[in-house]
Amino acid sequence: MSEQTNGARKASNDSPEGEHTVSFTRNALIVDGMKTLGELGTHHICNVCISYGGSCCRGCPHLADGLGCGQRNTSCTAWLCGFLKYYLYEIGLLDEWQSFWEQIPGQDYREDFTPERVDVNLAMPRTNVRHERLGLALAADLRQIEQSHVAIGFILTLREKLDKTMDQLMHCGADRKRRIRLQRKIKMMTADFRSFHQSLDSYRS
Ligand code: SF4
Ligand code: SF4
Repeated sequence: MSEQTNGARKASNDSPEGEHTVSFTRNALIVDGMKTLGELGTHHICNVCISYGGSCCRGCPHLADGLGCGQRNTSCTAWLCGFLKYYLYEIGLLDEWQSFWEQIPGQDYREDFTPERVDVNLAMPRTNVRHERLGLALAADLRQIEQSHVAIGFILTLREKLDKTMDQLMHCGADRKRRIRLQRKIKMMTADFRSFHQSLDSYRS
């Protein structure tokens, strides 16, 4: 199980003065966030989740048939379900992702009141070419797990359990014993993610 990176990278606009505040438009934040998620391969995980009826966009009035989301916002871009929290945690980017989006004001449920221009101090997590394979591996595990369980929607129940436990882990502060207990619990919950763990081992080595 990964240890999180120590703090997010500072934003930089490549000026000779180095790192400082960078101004983004609201739209650029959404585009950059979506691009980062794409490079991390989270869409592979979403595709499996959606194919088993787990879409987090379900029932949203902004979801257009065959077209997808008609009103992308900073809130939905930043938001992570249990699978994605776990995934970013294991690849060591959860803290950076959370820190980046905590700077962005006006996030709400399925909409935002983010100003048209926002200054940020911390940078979006950096991706690399190896990330997408990790997303593919986790997606393959999820599909295999769902197919091997009689109970329909097994992975969706797992997603909710992971979500709750990841939240507890993210908020356990300096309580080391609790942190270790929660990490063990997550390890047990994800013991069947064999392809993902294999890919993770080679990613870390
Ligand atoms: S709940 Fe998570 S995995 Fe499922 S579609 Fe939404 S973001 Fe993707
Ligand atoms: S607003 Fe959010 S929940 Fe609604 S369709 Fe768009 S991404 Fe999905």
